[in-house]
Amino acid sequence: MLTLRQLFLANNAQTTDFPLLLEFERAQGVYLYNAEGKPYLDLISGIGVSNIGHGNAQVIEAIKNQLDKYMHLMVYGEYVQTPQVRFAEKLTSLLPESLQSVYFTNSGAEAIEGAMKLAKRYTGRNQIIACHNAYHGSTQGALSIMGNEDFKQAYRPLLPGIQFINFNSLNDLDLITSETACVVIETIQGEAGIRVPNAAYMLALRNRCTKTGTLLILDENQTAFGRTGKLFAFEHFGIIPDILVLGKALGGGMPLGAFIASNEVMGALKNNPILGHITTFGGHPVCCASGLASLEVLLNENLIEQVAAKEALFKQLLVHPAIKQIRGKGLMLAAELDSFELNKAIIDHCIEQGIIIDWFLHCSNSMRIAPPLIITSEQIKEACATIIQAINIFAV
Ligand code: PMP
Repeated sequence: MLTLRQLFLANNAQTTDFPLLLEFERAQGVYLYNAEGKPYLDLISGIGVSNIGHGNAQVIEAIKNQLDKYMHLMVYGEYVQTPQVRFAEKLTSLLPESLQSVYFTNSGAEAIEGAMKLAKRYTGRNQIIACHNAYHGSTQGALSIMGNEDFKQAYRPLLPGIQFINFNSLNDLDLITSETACVVIETIQGEAGIRVPNAAYMLALRNRCTKTGTLLILDENQTAFGRTGKLFAFEHFGIIPDILVLGKALGGGMPLGAFIASNEVMGALKNNPILGHITTFGGHPVCCASGLASLEVLLNENLIEQVAAKEALFKQLLVHPAIKQIRGKGLMLAAELDSFELNKAIIDHCIEQGIIIDWFLHCSNSMRIAPPLIITSEQIKEACATIIQAINIFAV
């Protein structure tokens, strides 16, 4: 009889020749457990998803309650579905007044697609600007604005009219003109290896977009929901996007994305043509119930307030001559090493020791550290001790 691992390799589509091949039976809090009950400390939150940890009782209860009422009823935007309404009400109550209309999607990439379409439709323009080393998803529109040619060239032709600027470079802002429909940018770049822009740049970007009538789209798939020490990362910079894109932690562990704009901008999807974006499962009622419960846990348990102290502890403990730099904000950190080979050896060793870390798609010599926000000081100390031990073994 084939093992589960063999079946996975035989029947589940593979997108690399070296998948991690870890097998877990359950997950609780900051830990994933294998069949033998061995705990693995999750320092990557399933890539920015499990911000309040795994298996939260309130989230599970909300999901079960909704399952008892209804699952799918109708494509998005026709029926008044309580979980969608309540979640949009809560989200908009926490956002600036100009972000009051929420379009729920299935994923982050679909939210990016919707946001780009909305910007083209609202401005009547077709030029789009994105950043080198950006990651916004893997569908063809999102791939068109990916700032790394290696992942794109096999899939050309992609969307025309895309220009790239350097992230955090004031000089490049001149490329934004009255022909530009939108600038799509991560508030803090994730897959580039966690790049935090400076406030002057973000302000100048906002001003340039306003001046040219260009919509500023902030992709907060990785940065939202407390990860950087604020509910949304744009709050660090004193600016407000025209369209905010969310995903990952939005659904509390269930698949959900959203793009959010003013009623005026979003209204452009209603006519010429009607139904400017259509999705069958976007805003699934079970996912919205889960997302709302997760957001309530995040706020009620004051998790965001604890992020800065946890960041400081990581930075205090991850000191080693082999660590060239620690970049990031809050619990969205990158530790830079000399090479991918060294990084990979350390990551593999840490995983064997039960600490899950990772690298970045566009920055393979840096280690990804982005645990659930519920991680305790003791768990941070344990994780950092294992990482330093691994560095001592492999960095010569
Ligand atoms: N934007 C950013 C910044 C992301 O990190 C990701 C996913 N890593 C996406 C968009 C795409 O999200 P999804 O995988 O849900 O399509």
